[in-house]
Amino acid sequence: MSFEALGLHASILKALTDSGYTTPTPVQEQALPAAMAGKDLLVSSQTGSGKTAAFMLPSLHRLAEMAPAESAGRTPNQEKQAAQARGERPRFKAAQPKMLVLTPTRELALQVTTNTDKYAVNLRRLKAVAILGGMPYPKQMQLLSRNPEIIVATPGRLIDHMESGKIDFSQLEILVLDEADRMLDMGFIDDIEKIVAATPASRQTMLFSATLEGTVGNMARRITKDPMTIEI
Ligand code: AMP
Repeated sequence: MSFEALGLHASILKALTDSGYTTPTPVQEQALPAAMAGKDLLVSSQTGSGKTAAFMLPSLHRLAEMAPAESAGRTPNQEKQAAQARGERPRFKAAQPKMLVLTPTRELALQVTTNTDKYAVNLRRLKAVAILGGMPYPKQMQLLSRNPEIIVATPGRLIDHMESGKIDFSQLEILVLDEADRMLDMGFIDDIEKIVAATPASRQTMLFSATLEGTVGNMARRITKDPMTIEI
């Protein structure tokens, strides 16, 4: 099986070739067709299995096929001028991401963001930003003001931005929980529940975890609809 045969968008295929990826890994081969069709996934796989691309490639493919968001591509200055032209006082407009990836740690969030930039290098409209604890707020506000399609975040800091109205999840299409078992071990369950509750029920949900048993399995089944289960 090749990435071409899976039917990925040509811009993504080019990025994969340029990155030296020739063959999908087993988890990618199973996850891509279902995820590209918008299906929910529950995946038990380890770091190193190629799980980031297993959720990011089909997501980029779906986002690339969707219509751009109304304000996408406008710089903060253009937004300000447009508001002034309409006779309104410019104000901070909440970011409305199409995709959210939750990770347990800053390091994993940065790795996911770097890989996303690599896979989306030829999809100029699609931008990913990392929202992490410990990062200065003004810098994060600047990133959010560009209305990125993709947000990669650790749960705690994301809740702060959500509760202060800086991020609005009403347009979210795809939710990914990466290393969900570790997020629960770290005590993020309430934050995750709050974030999930702020997203549309119609979203696609993909959950990756070392195990799908116990508490994580219960949460996984609660937040997904008719998921395909993949165990590698
Ligand atoms: P991950 O399990 O997502 O942390 O990925 C492990 C490493 O494998 C990362 O450095 C990826 O860039 C790389 N990788 C993922 N998928 C492929 C593939 N199909 N071919 C070659 N390298 C890959």
